[in-house]
Amino acid sequence: MTKSESSGPGDAGHDYDVVISGSGLAGSAAAILLARRGVRVALLERRSDPEAYKVLCTHSITANAHPVLDELGLVPDLEKAGAVRNDARWYTRWGWIEPNAAHPGPELPHGYNVRRSTLDPLIRARAADTPGVELLTGHRVTGLVQEAGRTVGVRAATSRGEREIRARLVIGADGKDSAVAKFAGIPAEQYENARFGYLAHFRDLPLRGGIGQTWFLEPDMAYAFPNDDGVTVLAVLPDKKRLPAFRADPEGSFLDFVRALPEAPPVDSAERVTKFIGTVDYPLHSRRPTAPGIALIGDAALTGDPLWGVGCGWALQSAKWLA
Ligand SMILES: Cc1cc2nc3c(=O)[nH]c(=O)nc-3n(C[C@H](O)[C@H](O)[C@H](O)COP(=O)(O)OP(=O)(O)OC[C@H]3O[C@@H](n4cnc5c(N)ncnc54)[C@H](O)[C@@H]3O)c2cc1C
Repeated sequence: MTKSESSGPGDAGHDYDVVISGSGLAGSAAAILLARRGVRVALLERRSDPEAYKVLCTHSITANAHPVLDELGLVPDLEKAGAVRNDARWYTRWGWIEPNAAHPGPELPHGYNVRRSTLDPLIRARAADTPGVELLTGHRVTGLVQEAGRTVGVRAATSRGEREIRARLVIGADGKDSAVAKFAGIPAEQYENARFGYLAHFRDLPLRGGIGQTWFLEPDMAYAFPNDDGVTVLAVLPDKKRLPAFRADPEGSFLDFVRALPEAPPVDSAERVTKFIGTVDYPLHSRRPTAPGIALIGDAALTGDPLWGVGCGWALQSAKWLA
């Protein structure tokens, strides 16, 4: 069930077992899995549009996510939406590592390349349709309700003012800069990221073997992953020493970087279908994932290096472990 920003103070249903801040991958997965166990869940999302999605991601989802996607019942929908099994070739200083043919025997779990514009609305809609979950869009967590040293709810800003929502457990699934972690005063260990990153989506970008390509250039990195609807995401993660030159001309520097890759994909004949976006400072966080009345999952608990593309799988798995 979805309630939009029109939900305001005084509405019934402020009494939940669990309130979750953030309806991305971790929050939506946790909401579904908890509600299936009979838990009453308020799933709060600061953005008003239920189709909203995380833009800054290359959405190559590791195989450890497969059992969770399966349990959520999303695998058939992902296949139908055109999610691509994420086989890849890897360039290293010793040459290319090619994927082996599958071993005989039962099929192993595999990951997917699927755009967040496909995945995020899908999982959020599944959460909203799950009996026991109330999806409250346009609800930004702005504080915590605390009694006797324990968190017992959240305060949320809506278009109609602030409301208080009480619950037995507050889950912070609100990403790297987690509001729940901040308001609870949970410290983060922070690690510098020595790379920056830019990405864009392209059509008509053939890749050798028709599969993903990953370039380990030590220290620079690049990726090309085929996704749903014939779209390929191209990303570069260069060493920060290249940043001044990149900043001066992000588009030109991106294209030059791609053209110089071993077995470079033909970027000049491809059609770019999104803007170039990037992040020039992406420190990594690690937080203690519990406090009285609070649990953190996904990026809120641990923000890994985007280099390895493990964040989506971690978001889904940590939600399952918590449930
Ligand atoms: C450049 C880059 C490339 C990446 N590529 C990959 C990749 O290829 N593969 C991979 O697995 N991972 C990748 N990642 C990591 C991945 O994007 C994250 O790990 C993943 O999105 C984390 O999911 P999450 O649900 O924890 O958080 P998020 O997806 O960030 O979701 C958090 C949600 O909380 C909401 N929210 C935030 N604050 C509040 C608030 N105060 N109140 C209510 N709601 C709130 C947000 O609107 C959002 O919906 C990449 C990251 C970057 C930066």
